[in-house]
Amino acid sequence: VRNPLGTLFRELKRSEEALRASRDSVRREVEARTAELRESLELQRGILSAAMDGIWVVDGDGRVLEVNDAACRMLGYAREELAGASISALDAHEDPQVVAAHLARMRTLGFEHYETLHRRKDGVLVPVEISGALLPGRGAAVFIARDITRRRLAEAERATLQAQFHHAQKLESLGSLAGGVAHDINNVLAAISALAAVHGARAEAGGRLARDMGTIAQACARGGKLVGGLLAFSRRSPREDRPFALGDVVGEVAALLASTTLQKVQLKTDLEPGLPPVRGDRAALAHALTNLCVNAVDAMPGGGTLAIRTRRDGAGWVRLEVEDTGTGMPPEVLERALDPFFTTKDVGKGTGLGLAIVHSTVQAHGGELSLQSRPGAGTTVTLRLPPAPGDVLPAPEGAALEAGVRALQVLLVDDDDLILASVPQLLGLLGHEALTFQRAEDALRALDGGLQADVAVMDLHMPGMGGGELLPLIRERRPGLPILLVTGKADQGALDLVAAHEGVRLLSKPFGREELERALRLAVS
Ligand code: ADP
Ligand code: MG
Repeated sequence: VRNPLGTLFRELKRSEEALRASRDSVRREVEARTAELRESLELQRGILSAAMDGIWVVDGDGRVLEVNDAACRMLGYAREELAGASISALDAHEDPQVVAAHLARMRTLGFEHYETLHRRKDGVLVPVEISGALLPGRGAAVFIARDITRRRLAEAERATLQAQFHHAQKLESLGSLAGGVAHDINNVLAAISALAAVHGARAEAGGRLARDMGTIAQACARGGKLVGGLLAFSRRSPREDRPFALGDVVGEVAALLASTTLQKVQLKTDLEPGLPPVRGDRAALAHALTNLCVNAVDAMPGGGTLAIRTRRDGAGWVRLEVEDTGTGMPPEVLERALDPFFTTKDVGKGTGLGLAIVHSTVQAHGGELSLQSRPGAGTTVTLRLPPAPGDVLPAPEGAALEAGVRALQVLLVDDDDLILASVPQLLGLLGHEALTFQRAEDALRALDGGLQADVAVMDLHMPGMGGGELLPLIRERRPGLPILLVTGKADQGALDLVAAHEGVRLLSKPFGREELERALRLAVS
């Protein structure tokens, strides 16, 4: 017996259950999908906010749909201000065509990479590196903008450093060039002045020949000063190395100036008492100070005040200031003032070597130089020098100068024909006899053969065996023989040799009759 109603009821119930089951499964599916979507949106938002680069999403017309925090920070805008803005309005490349071309490439290739400038809200330009990609669909695109300010700064810094390095190298080579040329010119001058002294002494006193020879000797002395200037510029270490009081040097230079160049300029010196002595080449520092004063006087054609001050500086250093109330320097002159051969003065007036020499002298003394100047506000040049170790000033040398000197046998070693043809005559004039050798090896052989000499005069710089190698070999053979090392370029090597051997002195080239006479006296006394 069938119950049709009952059957219908059961089927209804079953399909209702099936419906409920499928509705539940759809709901679960939707829930799962929603959660996935939310996660992916959160991930997207996380990426956008964590990125250090600016990220821009723009529509097909280049209007901003979305930006991240970094983009807002980079350009100084709030998010709302950027929404809907035209991305090309933010670009500040000086040539908009270039940026347009990059965007066109991106439309065809789907991506592009370029550098440009963006303008911040406050107007400042930011260099940026852009990578852009087209999004599939309605022509929207995403741009990632990286701030490359720091990279640009580093590049600029590297370029400046490189330029400075080249500049320093140029100065270095100029210096050694000057040194080399000066060495040769010294030999020429030494020969001329030696022969002038010889013939001047032989000529009738007060006669024309004697006067002319005197003029030649003076001309050589002046040439020697010029060469000395070149050498001072090329020199890396001081010619002399002894302690002295900077105040004394200022006093000397001031006296010299007062009697010569000053005219309309008022000179004031202000010396701090009890300063520690400095160490080095007193003559070179006097020369440097003179150069600074000459510059100051040149800068005050209508008169003014030149002040020279000494002060104790931090850590016991000594400071020397040369201040003028002259024209001052515009920045572009100030920047190049230390360059050799840089001058703003007329031909014949300035050589442009003054400050370059001062600078290298100060460096050779382990000190520092700084310039302060503004147009119309005068110039101050400040030198800082380290104090001499210890506190004692040596007694001046020269006691031995009073005594006369007997006739000497002089062993002369020099490679230069000019020197060999002139110095022996000068020695003869002074009553000595020269035993000349052009090569160090020959001189040694002669000593081995029993040659006797009272003093050796030898060139430090010779091809083949130089004075530096010859010196100890002579010392082995004749331990007590006084030696004069002749050099135009008293570098550290020469000073070391003098320090390492007893009875060795430097004789700087070019030397005249007086210098040679004095050096020989000191050597044999
Ligand atoms: P020079 O004096 O032969 O020109 P320097 O090396 O001594 O060479 O100086 C270089 C340049 O620096 C000068 O030509 C001048 O323009 C500038 N200068 C130097 N010292 C001063 C100063 N005290 N006041 C104004 N300008 C100066
Ligand atoms: Mg000068």
